[in-house]
Amino acid sequence: MKHNHERRKFIQQSISAGIAIGATTFIPEVLKGHEIQTTPFTQTPLSYGFNALEPHIDALTMEIHYTKHAAAYTKNLNDAAIAEFKGANISIEDALKNISLYSAKLRNNGGGHFNHEFFWKSMMPNAPQLQEGKLKDAIISTFNSLENFKAKLSDAAMTRFGSGWAWLYIDDKKLLQIGSTPNQDNPLMDVSSIKGIPLLGLDVWEHAYYLKYQNRRAEYVNNWFNLINWKQVEERMTNSR
Ligand code: MN
Repeated sequence: MKHNHERRKFIQQSISAGIAIGATTFIPEVLKGHEIQTTPFTQTPLSYGFNALEPHIDALTMEIHYTKHAAAYTKNLNDAAIAEFKGANISIEDALKNISLYSAKLRNNGGGHFNHEFFWKSMMPNAPQLQEGKLKDAIISTFNSLENFKAKLSDAAMTRFGSGWAWLYIDDKKLLQIGSTPNQDNPLMDVSSIKGIPLLGLDVWEHAYYLKYQNRRAEYVNNWFNLINWKQVEERMTNSR
């Protein structure tokens, strides 16, 4: 197994580097003339049903959002990655951190893939309130109160003109920050005006809420706070330190 793995790695590296492997190469016939796809990004199955976030997010919105919108980002990311990664095994996080090196297609769909995977895990059915602990302490010491935190994140979501995301993230000084990004950008990207490690992200594209809320983004944002998986957010904070 290890031998095969090493051999595959050698083939990939050799192809990437453009090195001839010898007169009688051992590249399998089917791979000749093709780049090897080492980074097939996939959607993680949702850990809850499409209807599990009712009444705050309706089942049809969840189904279309996950199976159509998010699925398209993942598919298009794979297409872009095959063309641009040249067979190198690059994680989505590393690609986003150096996104200025890649095409707009990779930026939009890599961001779209990462943000949606992140978004699904940021929510849960019957979410408990934020419990006492490190995250609550950090939120209160940074934003003075939970209410103030909520007001500030809501403001970021409401003032994002057009499509984008509102974020709670941790900056390079390890401070909690709130901000927003346009389109499918996020704070990991080197091109982003806000930079850091995302802890919580809110999708404010109309496709995330229009069927139920139409133009009422504020109502969607307000109800979304009932869905936050605080334990997941706290884990992200712990892992970022
Ligand atoms: Mn979305």
